[in-house]
Amino acid sequence: MGGYYTQARTEGDVFGQKGDFITSPEISQVFGELIGIWFVAEWMAQGRPKAIELIEIGPGRGTLMDDMLRAIRNFKPMVNAIEAVYMVEASPALVKKQKNLLCGEDAELNEHGIGHTCTSKHGIPIVWTENIRFVPSTPEKTPFIVAHEFFDALPIHAFESVAASPDEPAAQPISIQTPTGVHQLAPEAVAKKSSAAKTPQWRELVVSPAPPGATHEDMKTPMSERELYPPLEFELTRAKASTPHSLYLPEMSERYKALKNTPGSLIEISPESHVYMAQIAERIGGSAQQSKEKPKGAALILDYGTHETIPINSLRGIKNHRRVSPLSEPGLVDLSADVDFIGLAQAALKTSEGVEVYGPIEQGGFLLQMGIKERAEQLARGKPQEKAKSIEGAWQRLIDRGPSGMGKVYKALAVVPESGGRRRPVGFGGDIQG
Ligand code: SAH
Repeated sequence: MGGYYTQARTEGDVFGQKGDFITSPEISQVFGELIGIWFVAEWMAQGRPKAIELIEIGPGRGTLMDDMLRAIRNFKPMVNAIEAVYMVEASPALVKKQKNLLCGEDAELNEHGIGHTCTSKHGIPIVWTENIRFVPSTPEKTPFIVAHEFFDALPIHAFESVAASPDEPAAQPISIQTPTGVHQLAPEAVAKKSSAAKTPQWRELVVSPAPPGATHEDMKTPMSERELYPPLEFELTRAKASTPHSLYLPEMSERYKALKNTPGSLIEISPESHVYMAQIAERIGGSAQQSKEKPKGAALILDYGTHETIPINSLRGIKNHRRVSPLSEPGLVDLSADVDFIGLAQAALKTSEGVEVYGPIEQGGFLLQMGIKERAEQLARGKPQEKAKSIEGAWQRLIDRGPSGMGKVYKALAVVPESGGRRRPVGFGGDIQG
């Protein structure tokens, strides 16, 4: 597999000053500590349940989990109720980094039925696996699930609505484009669809070879720097015919359907995200397939994305802290897209009647409610001036609510057991309970 996170780098990894981007847990330890406290508050509010599975999806360097565990450690009965920490990670190199941080450089990574395992500095079993579906899921478990900057890394499909017009015969679904080529539909199928052909159609944006001389013009890269990037090999173009994806993905939700009749509408859909979210909701609240008498556990999703609208044109490539074409140097550029939080919320609610969803709310507001100011001040107390200043700068950066500040662009979404809307989680307007 030639994925970005699974690439072999000669030096370091993709995170931090030397890597391609820097994330909140790497900016300040307070970030992970407050998330740890969020789960402690949920555990208390739910009557201190046993059989806790602490699950992180996409843990990067492991910093977030390390900081969370440091905060949770102060609540002994909760630590004792943790059966294991599950790290859902696709990259073997990052698994090793996470192991070094959580279990120590000398600790061995042992084979485990679903992946690998070691024992943390706090004596808790840590288990790595590639997909959340391998993490044990039985009705008595209490899953506490965190995903920070995970959903933005999942693939998306992009579509544009095109008007049906007599001079654009391609707008009629007489043929569909599949990986094996364009297939003509049988005449009966075309006849059946002829009424549909008068209404706008979704067209998928597909990757195609770029014409010679194509440049990185669409990006915010200054002219003078564009030549630093290799010539564009690929670009996104609108498929000339329907694709299997364009026929069914945009029909999945009323939100997409409402835009179809406005030609030129763009939407991005991440079906993988919906599948992941359905799994998360099912673990907490049960589902038609897996009943759970008493919903338990919680999930906290933090990422950048839209508040209400469906993301458009958000697929981006980042390399060395700069924006590049998402289609350049496949496998070497970090690809991400805005997270459709309402889409995630709908996927959770559709899967499980046992859950409630709160948010999305801006990260700045969430962290302030969680007490970031107080915790950072406590951390800075008695520290040399320079250190105290850097602690101050770091937490301010996390809550910065300027137009492109992390406090505004990043959002938080919580999935908790259904309570008829009577109990708001901490950080989302609720109080500490229990
Ligand atoms: N949460 C970390 C890292 C974010 S980067 C932080 O905030 O610093 C995204 C992480 O998700 C990486 O650890 C990457 O290896 C992992 N990842 C990406 N796609 C994945 C997938 N399909 N399955 C499991 N892990 C994945």
